This record gives sequence, C-alpha cells and structure tokens, in this order.
Amino acid sequence: MNSKKLYEGKAKILYKGPKANTLIVYFKDDATAFNNKKRSVIKEKGVLNNKMSELIMKKLAAGGVDNHFIKRISDREQLIKKVRIFPLEVIIRNIAAGSICKRLGLKQGMRLKKPLIEFFYKCDELDDPLITREHIEMFGWASEKDMKEITALTFKVNNIMSKLFRSINLKLVDFKIEFGKYQNGKKYKIILADEVSPDSCRLWDFKTNKSLDKDRFRKNLGKIKEAYEEVAERLGVV
Ligand code: C5P
Repeated sequence: MNSKKLYEGKAKILYKGPKANTLIVYFKDDATAFNNKKRSVIKEKGVLNNKMSELIMKKLAAGGVDNHFIKRISDREQLIKKVRIFPLEVIIRNIAAGSICKRLGLKQGMRLKKPLIEFFYKCDELDDPLITREHIEMFGWASEKDMKEITALTFKVNNIMSKLFRSINLKLVDFKIEFGKYQNGKKYKIILADEVSPDSCRLWDFKTNKSLDKDRFRKNLGKIKEAYEEVAERLGVV
C-alpha cells in the first residue's frame, strides 16, 4: 500500500484515498476483545471480513441504507467514503446475550419481545460505557435530529440483516454498527460506516445455536477461523 497511513485501529488500518472524501480501509487478521485485553491473530480473518462486509454493505445499500462502501479493491482492501464518525457504538439486540445478560441478570438466549437498541460511548479509556439519548444530546455527540435518523436507520439495518441471515439458517442475535457524517458541500448526510462482519455481530446456527462469530474467540471455544469461513461460505462470498 503506497498511500499515507492515517490511522491504525484494532482490526483495520485507514489510508488516504485516491480522491477527496475517500479512504482505503485495510482489514487485518488481528483479533481483540474486552477492550484490547485479549489479543490474537485469526489467519485470513481480514480477507473473510472484507468480503462479508462488502456483501452486507451492498445488500444494505440495495435496501435503502446508504453506507460508506464504494468498492472492494483487493482481498484485504476497500475504497470507502470518508466520514466523521459519531463517537457512538449503536447496538441492536434481538436475543439476549453478552453484556446485557451480565448487566441485567438475563438468561442468555431469551428472545426479546422486540429489537432493543442501546448506545455506548466510544471511549477506550472509559471502557465504552452504556449511555442514553439524553447523554448523547446533552454532551453534543449527536443532535436530536441525527439521533432520530440513526435510530431509524439502525432498525432498518436490523430488518435487512435479520432476513439475510435467516435465509442462510443463522439467527442474528445482536450487532454493533457505527455511523458517520458524509460532507457534501455545506450539507451532510448520515451514512452507515465501519464494517459488518462476525467481528461485530453475534450469529447462531438456527438449529443448534452454535456461535459462528467472535464469541468463539472471547470464550475460547476454538475453531474460530472455521466459524468465520462457515459464515462466508453460507453467504456465498468464498
Ligand atoms: O458485548 P455486547 O453484548 O454489548 O455486544 C453486543 C454486540 O456488539 C455483539 O455482537 C458484539 O460483537 C458487538 N460489539 C462490537 N464492538 C464492541 C462491543 C460490542 O462489535 N466494542
């Protein structure tokens, strides 16, 4: 990669793009969990996530959710739109699992009456705390108008992705997404950014409830690479 490196995150690197308002994202094999306390490398994860994220972003765009994906340029790289990311992790849960079970003492696997949206403040030093829309609006992380749009878009993403994963016999338990502002002259548009892959979703086999996502890494369940490959195969991208 000849472009200038702009930022290196836990699983991705961002480079300057060929045109204004574009970036190149490089998908690494590094895996982290628990705010970087657990680290490893999952061979070929970057390639699989790049291809899965491409497919999902294309499906979302076709379903009316504008996002940062422009095109895939290699096994590990995508050309994307440059956005200003809101400092928010937006999570939707369809089934109780992970942090909500710990926080509220819920039984893992309980189907929620309706999809539940949660917001977390993106801040490693504070361990990404759970926040409300009131916090977000009060501290200026996003306006009331932006939050209405982010919330509506998130439910739309959940609808499209739940159907997509259901069609390949996977339950979409929960997922995390991020949004950014894409500047167009004086105006901006809120678009979906970051990636959507088994790094940021919980996916369970429809019949067996076997985890096919990053929980295999978090919980030392083994066969991590195989799980990512299985999702990629079911999605038809490998
Ligand atoms: O840990 P928790 O149960 O809150 O995670 C909910 C969903 O959000 C999971 O699918 C998890 O993989 C994803 N997530 C993420 N990045 C984070 C926190 C959660 O992708 N920093």
